[in-house]
Amino acid sequence: MELRRIQDLDLRGKKVFLRLDLNVPTKNGQIKDETRIVAALPTIRHILEQTNKLVLCSHLGRPDGERDDAYSLEPIGLRLAEMLEREVVFVDDYIDQPLAPVLDQLGKNQIILLENLRFWPGETKNDFTFASKLIHGFDFYINDAFGTLHRAHASTVGAAEQLRPEQRAAGLLVQKEIDALKLLTDKPEAPFSVIVGGAKVSDKIGVILNLINTCNFILVGGAMAYTFLQYKGIAVGKSKVENDKVELIKSIYRNAEARRVEIVLPIDHVCASEFKQDADPKAIATAAIPDGLLGLDIGPKTIESFSKIIARSKTVFWNGPMGVFEWNNFSRGTMAIAKAVADCSGKTFVGGGDSVAAVNAAGLASRMTHVSTGGGASLEFLEGAILPGVKVLLA
Ligand code: AMP
Repeated sequence: MELRRIQDLDLRGKKVFLRLDLNVPTKNGQIKDETRIVAALPTIRHILEQTNKLVLCSHLGRPDGERDDAYSLEPIGLRLAEMLEREVVFVDDYIDQPLAPVLDQLGKNQIILLENLRFWPGETKNDFTFASKLIHGFDFYINDAFGTLHRAHASTVGAAEQLRPEQRAAGLLVQKEIDALKLLTDKPEAPFSVIVGGAKVSDKIGVILNLINTCNFILVGGAMAYTFLQYKGIAVGKSKVENDKVELIKSIYRNAEARRVEIVLPIDHVCASEFKQDADPKAIATAAIPDGLLGLDIGPKTIESFSKIIARSKTVFWNGPMGVFEWNNFSRGTMAIAKAVADCSGKTFVGGGDSVAAVNAAGLASRMTHVSTGGGASLEFLEGAILPGVKVLLA
């Protein structure tokens, strides 16, 4: 599986349509985290070295096919203009007015940013007419929106399909993300530890089952861990448990045994009597959780046992927090694991929104080998799926 690469295209003077993932957290028009904007810059700059006939587009949030000013890309356009030192012409209606002729009138220092693609219902439906209006008159389609490659939308699939294969390519960020993920599925250096956490077993099951083929340890934390512990016959009090996932856990253990992969579960916890931010944290020094308590974080002995395994790993993949890390009293496990991964001298990969947020909050992102900009996309890739947005970029 080889991606067609933007570096192999001659873009000089051409009209280029660039799908980006500028879906950054915003509040009242303020950008809360610029990571995805910064990650988009290398490809934009690469194109601008060859042509200024460039249209950028992205989605922001889930406005459900209707205009909603809370999800306008305008503030992001202003920030991009500062970062690129260019005038970013913001285009609101690109459906009634064809886009490509406007590009001929752009000044040397101008580029175009389209308003949120998801203001139109045709985007998420991968509507043919909507896709035609987006791409009509362009010479090249470039996708650098790693975070949306798992979605078959008009801007990620339909528009690409309306140009010839040699007119489409992956941007620099998409190439970097896919190259990093391939290291985990192809030939990761052993010992390879997979750390999973977060809310639900069902969200991570595909990844666990696929990475069992290449990993040596699976460290389980977060709410998921209680379903594993219950399966093992260990008391979990009133912790969050997915009773309907027992069969899935059975198949994880069956596969792990067959491949000699060790599944490591928490041996102590930080609990509370209620699922509340200001609940009193109670340290429970055993794997079993007493009645009336629920587990909200891993305890110090678990941090130590996980950290030891992480320290001697040559490859680490981490997805999902170890506890309710949004709440101070229950964030220690996640922050300690972020530190352990950062301290590991092997190759370290962090994929997925919440673990990335934790790594950023701890200021540790630069100490990881790779921090993914797309949680859903990286998980689906690691499940072994060919992502729809990747399929249209294959050579
Ligand atoms: P995910 O998106 O699946 O990675 O899940 C992240 C969410 O899982 C975060 O919002 C955490 O607060 C939540 N979470 C982690 N551990 C627990 C736990 N022990 N109980 C309840 N929620 C948890």
